[in-house]
Amino acid sequence: NKIKLKFKENANFDNNTYDTWINSVKPISYEGNVLTLELPTALHRDYWDRQLKSTFIEYAYAITQTDITPNLVLKGEVDDNNQNLKRFNEANGKSEIPHIDPHLNPNYTFDTFVIGQGNQMAHAAALAVSEDPGKVYNPLFFYGGVGLGKTHLMQAIGNKVLSSNPNAIVKYVTTEKFTNDFIDSLQNNKMQEFRKVYRNVDLLLIDDIQFLANKEGTQDEFFNTFNALYEDNKQIVMTADRLPNEINSLTDRLVSRFKWGLSVDITAPDMETRAAILRAKAKSESLAIDDNIMSYIASQIDSNVRELEGALSRIKAFADLKQEPITMDLVSEALRPLKLNKEKSAITPESIIKTTASYFRVTVKEIKGKKRVKAIVMPRQIAMYLSRELTDNSLPKIGEAFGGKDHTTVIHACDKISKQLATDSDLQNQIKDIKTEIKH
Ligand code: ADP
Ligand code: MG
Repeated sequence: NKIKLKFKENANFDNNTYDTWINSVKPISYEGNVLTLELPTALHRDYWDRQLKSTFIEYAYAITQTDITPNLVLKGEVDDNNQNLKRFNEANGKSEIPHIDPHLNPNYTFDTFVIGQGNQMAHAAALAVSEDPGKVYNPLFFYGGVGLGKTHLMQAIGNKVLSSNPNAIVKYVTTEKFTNDFIDSLQNNKMQEFRKVYRNVDLLLIDDIQFLANKEGTQDEFFNTFNALYEDNKQIVMTADRLPNEINSLTDRLVSRFKWGLSVDITAPDMETRAAILRAKAKSESLAIDDNIMSYIASQIDSNVRELEGALSRIKAFADLKQEPITMDLVSEALRPLKLNKEKSAITPESIIKTTASYFRVTVKEIKGKKRVKAIVMPRQIAMYLSRELTDNSLPKIGEAFGGKDHTTVIHACDKISKQLATDSDLQNQIKDIKTEIKH
């Protein structure tokens, strides 16, 4: 109605002309930015096609900020809206399915992906598939540990395919979402819709398929989806944290299907790649960080890219809060808790017992045993005290590590050592030395 009004206001129509050519037009449906309009006669269609269509698009845009395409149909031809839309889309080279949201993160592109030793094969395969989906490696399967770029690379394929062919139907789903959709459609008698959605795609990206483990029904449906797409030469890309044959109870027929294509692993980035990733991220966030500081961060955070990103945002937050430039001091302060966590997890009661025993020249067996002579009781209590301080283990767990002692014994030891520490400087030094050794 607003568009009609705009015609009336702007097009210098007298009332009669307006009623004849504009007001007689009936909107029928609106789907995927296509507005289907019903016109009374062929003459109307002719006139609209030649004269009014472009003005319509212009007015529609002014009102809705959306590019709306009119789909002109004659009265009597309007049998079923979907039929109309289908004809229109076919004539315009579009598929019958209205545009579905591909669920892609726009930042996960090839441009933002840093190539390094651990991922260059995967990157090359991803690029090849994005240039020729359904033709080269189908299915393409990435596997590797968490935070190494599997999801990023998979979505880069989706983004690339869409940018070279905006009409392509791309769908990214996590295995969890696929499973939920499947169960949901079973419960609500919507299997047909489910299949329509998953089998009418040109590119299906399905993430973390290790979660198909022990889900037989979902595996069956995925098997059927896979076959339907594969037979249609549609591209399938999958990821998991391990190889298909290592996924618990994944049916053999799925495992063998996955072998039809290409499996590539992604491994942890080496020092050089970590530094390159940091440089790229810092640049994209306009952070000024010295090269040697960059290398320092890369040397400290060596597990995966997600943690590298986490470290960088901590550093950024520190610099922002303190309103200071990013110096080595600031970086080591920002990263300290991350490093402590790591140290903590590497230290166990076992390693503490071993170090303490060797420091006092007694055996591990003696510390774990029951002998109550002073030369053994003291090291045993110190080791208990250190286990409490340096690990997250519970008291019963610590007792267990000491040859199955009761947690009250551990409490007693900790109390005794803390009290003595307050006054005994020899003990203070001993504990300091043992700690240093444990941390090495
Ligand atoms: P995964 O799916 O393997 O657990 P993600 O793809 O979610 O890992 O990656 C974790 C984070 O690290 C993401 O923010 C991603 O953009 C980033 N990342 C991983 N690898 C790279 C890389 N080679 N270059 C740039 N960023 C990367
Ligand atoms: Mg992932």
